[in-house]
Amino acid sequence: MNIKEILNENKFVFKKKFGQNFLLDQNILNNIVSLGNISKDTLVIEIGVGAAALTRKLSEHAKQVLGYEIDTTLKEPLQEILNGYDNINIIFDDFLKRNIKEDLNDFEYKNIMVVANLPYYITTPIITKFIDEKIDVEKIVVMVQNEVADRFSAILGTKSYNSLTIFLNYYFDIKKAFTVSRNVFYPKPNVDSAIVVFSKKDKQIKVKDEEFFFKLVKDSFAQKRKTLKNNLKGYDQNKINSILEKFNKNISFRAENITIEEFAAISNEYNK
Ligand code: SAM
Repeated sequence: MNIKEILNENKFVFKKKFGQNFLLDQNILNNIVSLGNISKDTLVIEIGVGAAALTRKLSEHAKQVLGYEIDTTLKEPLQEILNGYDNINIIFDDFLKRNIKEDLNDFEYKNIMVVANLPYYITTPIITKFIDEKIDVEKIVVMVQNEVADRFSAILGTKSYNSLTIFLNYYFDIKKAFTVSRNVFYPKPNVDSAIVVFSKKDKQIKVKDEEFFFKLVKDSFAQKRKTLKNNLKGYDQNKINSILEKFNKNISFRAENITIEEFAAISNEYNK
């Protein structure tokens, strides 16, 4: 029986609130798996297992797949769908409530890769969770709505460039890999999707005081349409201006025109 038939047989009801549009297209599943450099030493964490078409593919290449699924009504169909796959463990819970390190204690592996196809609103919290819990992840492959993909990899001076862009780009190199048509999902959603790959940065940007750096970035973007001069009222503006002049910029610029390296320079030199 194929996956669709198993879902039907189990009278599975799709739940919009969990963003349940399942990807069953074999070519696209293969393309997603190939983005991850998965080997027989890799533990893959998949968030939002759904009907497990992707999970099965991942398990063929990985040492182990640790999957999370919030919808417990998928328990029964998944038993059938994953029958015979012995390197897949599924935790039926809200991923955001888990302690990842504790869940990982049960496994041995050399590297971790994360795959997630989830509603946009929980994509950023998921990535932030891996950063906050200091989990050493080599790659995070996420599928998001196409227009959202550009927000993650936003370029300087564009509307999408914001403090989140800086925050994520501080840890990862971010690239949009390819778009995925809405027609390959079951049921079909209203928008096309895209795959975005977050790869751990080889060369970390040098920031002496991360807390101050992130505060500076957040304050700089507080009101997007305003200049740094207006957003950074509590700071020593002469100091910031003279640091920026080294980059041929000044305090009358907007934050969307300041690169991550320039923010790092301001933050490092400001407290010297
Ligand atoms: N990975 C599957 C695929 O590619 O076909 C399913 C993708 S579907 C878009 C998203 C899945 O994530 C759903 O099965 C949903 O129930 C699950 N999900 C949503 N929020 C979740 C959360 N907070 N924790 C774990 N799973 C979640």
